[in-house]
Amino acid sequence: MAFEGLSERLQAAMNKMRRKGKISEADVKEMMREVRLALLEADVNFKVVKEFVKTVSERSIGEEVLESLSPSQQVIKIVNEELTALMGGEQSTIQTAPKSPTVIMMVGLQGAGKTTTAGKLANYLRKNQNRRPMLVAADIYRPAAIQQLETIGEQLDIPVFSMGNQVSPVEIAQKGIEKAKEEHRDFVIIDTAGRLHIDETLMTELTDIKALANPTEIFLVVDAMTGQDAVNVAESFNEQLDITGVILTKLDGDTRGGAALSIRSVTGKPIKFTGQGEKLDALEPFYPERMASRILGMGDMLTLIEKAQLDFDEQKAEEMTKKLKENSFDFNDFIDQMDQLNNMGPLEDILKMIPGMSNAPGLDQIKIDPKDTARMKAVVLSMTPQERENPDILSQSRRRRIARGSGRPIAEVNRMIKQFNESKKMMNQMSKGNFNGMDNMFGS
Ligand code: GDP
Repeated sequence: MAFEGLSERLQAAMNKMRRKGKISEADVKEMMREVRLALLEADVNFKVVKEFVKTVSERSIGEEVLESLSPSQQVIKIVNEELTALMGGEQSTIQTAPKSPTVIMMVGLQGAGKTTTAGKLANYLRKNQNRRPMLVAADIYRPAAIQQLETIGEQLDIPVFSMGNQVSPVEIAQKGIEKAKEEHRDFVIIDTAGRLHIDETLMTELTDIKALANPTEIFLVVDAMTGQDAVNVAESFNEQLDITGVILTKLDGDTRGGAALSIRSVTGKPIKFTGQGEKLDALEPFYPERMASRILGMGDMLTLIEKAQLDFDEQKAEEMTKKLKENSFDFNDFIDQMDQLNNMGPLEDILKMIPGMSNAPGLDQIKIDPKDTARMKAVVLSMTPQERENPDILSQSRRRRIARGSGRPIAEVNRMIKQFNESKKMMNQMSKGNFNGMDNMFGS
């Protein structure tokens, strides 16, 4: 599987840190050493690695992070954000020309998957965007290229314009675009020649086609399996042709990931699509954020962290931690906490967002009925302020009075007080950084 090694190593580095409650600058440094090695081993460009580690370290060692309630999660969030940024941040879509047809030029080295990808792209445009594409066979050098494109066209039932291999590629491109206009095609995808290596003749020909065809997009097709070479190829093509985007093929193979992580940073050009197989529908838009989450094995953890940040009142949460540490957490705080949890939505849904938890046995048993929390609240509100602050004074006679006041059976009052004492004990442990039994939640 693609990114397997990188994914495993990064996740191991993160998990090590997750187990600590508080983390120090030294912890961050140690983790960043591991992240650095993981990236280098995945064949990520060394300059990119250096810059990445520097940014993540600077952001992580910032005071707000290490002093925050969940420093390890904050650091993981930073790694994820920076990985996303490294791969281009936002998803990048296909640009269209102000006047139809939009011309897309496909360029790349031989064997990268250019011809196949031209077909996949035509298929994608038709299927996903309801477009009327046309393919143009302008690779006159590779013996089977024209025929290969024609076969693909037949399979997809998408027209292919060709003029054999005795006409110059520039002329083929020109005539192809004219034909597309006549037939009211809104996209023209030109499959150009590749070589085994970049050479001047190839670049001159491509520059000539570019000058004539005035393409809106020039997509460089690179083979993700070639790692650093893919990055070098992208750099050269970009210098000569000013490409507009990259399509990374063979991401279904066991690529280490270097190309996916370095191309954007080295060339400044976005990865627009990835090839995920030989079939003509195996093309997917590239989402940097999803790719980053996938590499970090995070499931929907990010949504969860963001949700918690949005919904939890930081100051209140801090007060709560302080109280837990001092062991002065009382029934007033209990109610507060219940309200905060209620604000986040149903607990079952929250738990499902934690990777590894969605299929956890017994999760379907956890049903928190909002009525239960309302009843618990009624019980707490029937306590005197003194009782709420000092749960230890809750004698049997006081409990009976509370049961009467809240209209709940005495057994329920007893159960709730017991539950309160247990949660208090557990939270007190957690506030000291003891997350025993919680590791599994993160799929470690
Ligand atoms: P070109 O020389 O750049 O035009 O390359 P081709 O389109 O002929 O592709 C070369 C080989 O790579 C063919 O066998 C394709 O089926 C294969 N290929 C292209 N894209 C992918 C991909 O995303 N995944 C896999 N597994 N194979 C691919």
